Amino acid sequence: MKRIIIAIDGPAASGKSTTAKFLASRLGYIYLDTGAMYRACALRCKQLGLKLEDKTKIIAMMDAMDLQVNQSSDGNIVILHGTDVSAEIRTPEISSLASAISAIPEVRDKMVALQRKLGSEGGVVLDGRDIGTVVFPQAEAKFFLIADVNERAKRRYLELQAKGLDTPFEKVLEELIERDKADAGRAVAPLKPAVDSIPVDTSKLSIAQQVSCLFIHLEKLLSLPVVRLAQHSGYCFGVRRALNLALEARNDEKPVITLGEIIHNPQIVQKLADKGIRVAKEASEIKNSKVIIRSHGIPKWELETLIANQNEIIDATCPYVKRTHETLQKLVAEGYPVIILGDKDHPEVVGMLSYGDSKTQVVSSDDPLPILEGRKTAILAQTTQKLHNLSDLACKLLPDCNELRVFNTICLATSERQNSTVELAKASDLMLVIGGHNSANTRALASLSSAICLTYHIETEAELENLELGGYPRIGLAAGASTPEEMIVEVYNKVLQKSGSTAKVKCSGEIPMFKEESC
Ligand code: C5P
Repeated sequence: MKRIIIAIDGPAASGKSTTAKFLASRLGYIYLDTGAMYRACALRCKQLGLKLEDKTKIIAMMDAMDLQVNQSSDGNIVILHGTDVSAEIRTPEISSLASAISAIPEVRDKMVALQRKLGSEGGVVLDGRDIGTVVFPQAEAKFFLIADVNERAKRRYLELQAKGLDTPFEKVLEELIERDKADAGRAVAPLKPAVDSIPVDTSKLSIAQQVSCLFIHLEKLLSLPVVRLAQHSGYCFGVRRALNLALEARNDEKPVITLGEIIHNPQIVQKLADKGIRVAKEASEIKNSKVIIRSHGIPKWELETLIANQNEIIDATCPYVKRTHETLQKLVAEGYPVIILGDKDHPEVVGMLSYGDSKTQVVSSDDPLPILEGRKTAILAQTTQKLHNLSDLACKLLPDCNELRVFNTICLATSERQNSTVELAKASDLMLVIGGHNSANTRALASLSSAICLTYHIETEAELENLELGGYPRIGLAAGASTPEEMIVEVYNKVLQKSGSTAKVKCSGEIPMFKEESC
């Protein structure tokens, strides 16, 4: 992969350092915080008691200064004459002093020479005020970050508070405006956007969005494939809750057992097994234990068996599934024959059916139309069904009914994941749908997507090993509600790696999301 120079300039607290640091880490590049270098000069002046007017002494100080900038996972470590001063250079006093001292041409000459030495080989992200205009005017990528001044002051204020420095907000704002004015108004290398820089307003962006925004601009330059994540992907609330409940339950003497696999994801089931959480197939096998009822729920009779066997019940049934049980019970009590749209062998449907009566029947979208018991009927759906299958069924049954009650029991997370998958598939040349091969909701995503473009349903990144991804300029990623974040991250990193890139993300929030291109 080409290793380019990326220049990020902009006023104080516009998000430069954070963005540059994350971007460097994502690309496997060096990060250089040039502001920290001027801050070190300012600190050295302070240590030696030098006055700003005493230029000769400052120049001599610069010649003798021993400054090292080291890389760490948390940014740059600034070593001044053998001492780590990374924290000491972050005070408001040093900020103002750095601004003043950086206006001295000889100071800049020294620093610029050092910055060029450190960055000349490429594979570097530098942030500062003059990177795109003076230090590396030939940089392949130049960004100029801006943000509303109040927002910037708020960020700086919170940063200072976190460090225990109690500077009033008004003072922070005032100093920031002062410093911007001085930096932009100085004669040498003033703060200004390079003519060929890309402006990015970070006022309303989260850190992940800021990084994605710059990354999206870099994809072309670095010949990276355009990979986007569907807006709604991965664990839903119900799954997250079930997993948390299982992990919390573990801190106890009693064995912790899940009745059936807690979610339809083999890798997570294995991880839980490694932590001592066992899976039982039958309720009758479990005695005197803590039993986690998984998010799919269980049939009524199994619950009764578990209680009779002196088990402690931890009910992680998804609230959306619980609602289908309640609705079904109510409809049965009111005398409605109920049709459940779903897969009759799916544990969620098996559990749900136990709340019905002899007039309750299950049909899948591929089955012939059910025979109705009279002219009034109700329809419920398994929570992970496709909406169009539910509306299709309702339309087909309507002519034979006097009264048809349709309950959209498809959960919000399911419809959000389906809608965002479809939207992304329409803008992609290839879709990778990530999740357990046994996961109904992931399979539904893959089936929706494959109607639009070439789609692979994969469980882990290992399945990408033998797939040719080269001919697809736009690759979309979608993930089911039971897909853990680490699998989405591993797939994304593998796609980039297969394209020859060293870029890597650490969390799914760092993956450019579809529909964020507007920044
Ligand atoms: O970016 P930071 O706020 O740490 O920078 C401190 C000061 O260093 C700035 O206010 C600016 O005066 C100076 N600076 C500069 N040129 C750079 C980076 C920082 O003049 N490339």
